[in-house]
Amino acid sequence: MTEASEDPAAQDWLSRVGSLRQWSKGGERAPNKPLLLLYALGRLHNDGSSRVVYKSDEARLQQMLEEFGPPRQRSPHRPQFAFSRMPGDGIWKVDTSDGAALRADSRADLRRANAVGRLPSNDEQLLHAHPELLAQTVQRLLQGNWPESLHSEICEFVGLDLKELLEPEAGPASDAAPGSSRQGQKRDPYFRTQVLSAYEYQCAMCGWDARLSHASVGLEAAHIQWRAYDGPDHPKNGISLCVLHHRLFDRGVLGISPDLKVEVSQDFNGRGTSARLVIELANQDIIPPQSPAQRPEGRYINWHQEQVFKSPARLPR
Ligand SMILES: [Zn+2]
Repeated sequence: MTEASEDPAAQDWLSRVGSLRQWSKGGERAPNKPLLLLYALGRLHNDGSSRVVYKSDEARLQQMLEEFGPPRQRSPHRPQFAFSRMPGDGIWKVDTSDGAALRADSRADLRRANAVGRLPSNDEQLLHAHPELLAQTVQRLLQGNWPESLHSEICEFVGLDLKELLEPEAGPASDAAPGSSRQGQKRDPYFRTQVLSAYEYQCAMCGWDARLSHASVGLEAAHIQWRAYDGPDHPKNGISLCVLHHRLFDRGVLGISPDLKVEVSQDFNGRGTSARLVIELANQDIIPPQSPAQRPEGRYINWHQEQVFKSPARLPR
């Protein structure tokens, strides 16, 4: 098999992707097409097909625009734009159940005709043949449209694991597990929603529950046992954390005890206000999930305690 970098078809695909316009005529950034494309690539990666059914995916596409698109003052986001216009860029095909023509940008037409969009089949085959091309495409779209701090959240939304895409051999950072069956594992796109909903959209450690309009911001669904080490996308292996506490949890500064109290590593220190706020979390009860059935399971907590948390924990003051 030839490398994607030597395949003219792959280069042609990347240049079509790269020529998507970044701005709307009104000078507003226009991530509609990149977002729809990322959404379809997530489908392709997880289901083997890039099919997006407008009627059933519309709400999700709308939400994605609200979360990662530009602020809208007057008119709402219109997921139908990219769906009906992207065929003009040579990277999208739309079929209708009755073969009917669609009025451009008509939400009603797309729904009524049960419009199904997908990547052109030869491009889909190309992406199947060159897994690294999928990663390059995703990276090109992300780098062309968003700051790096948002890349993993966008990928999570569409069911792609950015670290896994970029380092398929090594795995995230320095933690490739020997014999791990992580490769080939599919990310469950609903994990985030299930976990955040279980904790009522707040950080289980500090209660951070901020929103930008109605979308929560700076809040993430953390895996307790890392995916790289076969931690499942299951709510019992998840905990809702703000960005800071997620990072500190993954770095082993923070942990949780089997009786669901916050643990802070004795190795962690800092005199500033923010660091002191972290230290003060020691031995506090985490904000529990709504239902006991969603409580983190002991075996995942134990894994985190053993493999990640920098013990010993600070003693309560
Ligand atoms: Zn927090």
